[in-house]
Amino acid sequence: MVTNEFKNYAEEALVHTYNRFPVAFDHGEGVYLYDTDGKKYLDFAAGIAVNAFGYHVEEYNNALKAQMDKLIHISNLFYTEPMAEAAHKLVKASGLKRVFFTNSGTEAIEGAIKVARKYAHKKDGCTDHEIIAMEHSFHGRSMGALSVTGNAHYREAFGPGIGHVIFAKYNDLEDVKAKITDKTCAILFETVQGEGGIYPGEADFIKQIRKLCDEKDILLILDEIQCGMGRTGKMFAYQHYGILPDVMTTAKALGCGVPVGAFVVGERAENALEPGDHGSTYGGNPLVCAAVSKVFDMFESRHVLDHVNEVAPYLDKRLSQLAAEFDVVKETRGMGLIRALELKAPAGPYINKALEKGLVIISAGANIIRFVPPLVITKENVDEMYEILKSCLEEL
Ligand SMILES: *Cc1c(COP(=O)(O)O)cnc(C)c1O
Repeated sequence: MVTNEFKNYAEEALVHTYNRFPVAFDHGEGVYLYDTDGKKYLDFAAGIAVNAFGYHVEEYNNALKAQMDKLIHISNLFYTEPMAEAAHKLVKASGLKRVFFTNSGTEAIEGAIKVARKYAHKKDGCTDHEIIAMEHSFHGRSMGALSVTGNAHYREAFGPGIGHVIFAKYNDLEDVKAKITDKTCAILFETVQGEGGIYPGEADFIKQIRKLCDEKDILLILDEIQCGMGRTGKMFAYQHYGILPDVMTTAKALGCGVPVGAFVVGERAENALEPGDHGSTYGGNPLVCAAVSKVFDMFESRHVLDHVNEVAPYLDKRLSQLAAEFDVVKETRGMGLIRALELKAPAGPYINKALEKGLVIISAGANIIRFVPPLVITKENVDEMYEILKSCLEEL
């Protein structure tokens, strides 16, 4: 717990965009965090699905330290080996063709939107193309990403958005179909909706949309910023459905803690953007790319996907137990290590109680507890989480 004095000191100098928990974290070790008083916490949030390997990972840290002493930044006017290597590894893991590195998820979405508009512009020269996005989606906070985010509460005060965005119901093929016009340049959605409450895309929906996009030459953009990078048990969640998107966005666990994202384009869209169409000063600098490169190596050498596929059913089982034992739990759902416990009451008090008891969990919507732990958690960690959460459910 931070003192009121520290809280006031911090708030004094920060824009008030977050209601932070009254904890200041100092360091981490494995899947545990330690606050400035030395109190230990089990982490089931991973910095919002970022820290796939947990904390103080020597192999990863050493790769960053080595790169830091060589070259941190050089701009995109020059080549670097770390960027070329990271791009090839991302291309291989995604099954797509080319990568543009960004500094965040929201910027990856901005880039994806530009790819779609440019792709359509090249065909007909028009500048009024439409994007179909989904209700209850989340794609980020910059103006473009916000404009395709299906949550009016986030958008309203900041209008007008980029325009020409039409929202359809997620997992509702007929609704999407009804909203396609000859101006539609892209259909955009999260393969698993994250912030909106952890709703996996249905296989039929995803496959049929892929078909529709092929028939009508519309780009399918899949946002894998939260659900990608091994979280569902495949490197990218769309790999469960046997399809490829035309554009894919990734960030969060891509760099496991350094600020990096990317949009990755497939065959159809690989040449949509041309020299001068897009850029970023920092995007994919050697420091973050050394991290990305090491992250892909560690996924392989540590058999992370196998581990996720082994531990995830156990997490599901334990959460299902809580759903059966407690009336206040409505249901549990998710895929791999991105899961939800939906309550019939606000999740806030339970999350605060858990934090007091040394468990970090977060919400995804008012009534939903979200579980996006480091991918390296063990069954013993799941048991520990279960016991703490159970005691919170009993006491409240
Ligand atoms: C977090 C998130 C974003 C935004 O990423 P930032 O790095 O916060 O800009 C976009 N889409 C999804 C699905 C996300 O979970």
